[in-house]
Amino acid sequence: SPLTIAIDGYSACGKSTLARALARRLGYSYIDTGAMYRAVTLHLQRDEVNLEDDAAVTEALRQITIAFRPEDNHVLLNGEDVEHQIRGLSVSKMVSQVAALSKVRRAMVEQQRRMGADGGVILDGRDIGTVVFPDADLKLFVTADLETRIDRRLSELLADGQEVQREEVAANLEERDYIDSHRADSPLRMADDAVLLDNTHLGLEELVERGEELVQQ
Ligand code: C5P
Repeated sequence: SPLTIAIDGYSACGKSTLARALARRLGYSYIDTGAMYRAVTLHLQRDEVNLEDDAAVTEALRQITIAFRPEDNHVLLNGEDVEHQIRGLSVSKMVSQVAALSKVRRAMVEQQRRMGADGGVILDGRDIGTVVFPDADLKLFVTADLETRIDRRLSELLADGQEVQREEVAANLEERDYIDSHRADSPLRMADDAVLLDNTHLGLEELVERGEELVQQ
């Protein structure tokens, strides 16, 4: 029967590459939960919502519909393809503050559980194996050295034509790691029954092979 696979880990450690490759090989759907928090953040930025204004955040969440376009997995915010905009540093700089709001997490977790309810799905994020699907059939936790992650994210942003400095990317990754692993509501941590994969030493190809082996078992 189709499995539910949870992949968690820090930013830019290779987990979404792994998730996407595994989903393709298994014919599963892929849910990038970070993209959902990023889409919420973009909406709040556009409407200049004050994150401390509880009623305004509630109202904003009510106005948002997030979906993934099946053909290319682009994230749709109220039907608009915002895939490109959510990847920029401006969203990256605010997303962890947004994701720390309990109200936002509750709404996203609920939607993620609905989207993954039938199995045959791979979700990647920070709290999939601990909170969203604690009974997932397979849980992977991906890490990589900070330097490796900075290099990876920097080259992605540069390839996209964005003007960013290495220091800026480094500061953003470190800040998000800190906020994500220290927030009161479901902080980033490895589930007790997750398998740890370190992308510092494993190349992406090996990472995917290792993931496939674990799925077969
Ligand atoms: O995975 P990505 O780096 O795109 O995620 C962006 C941010 O969204 C993370 O830094 C984190 O603050 C938040 N996030 C989360 N829970 C998830 C996925 C992402 O809090 N399941």
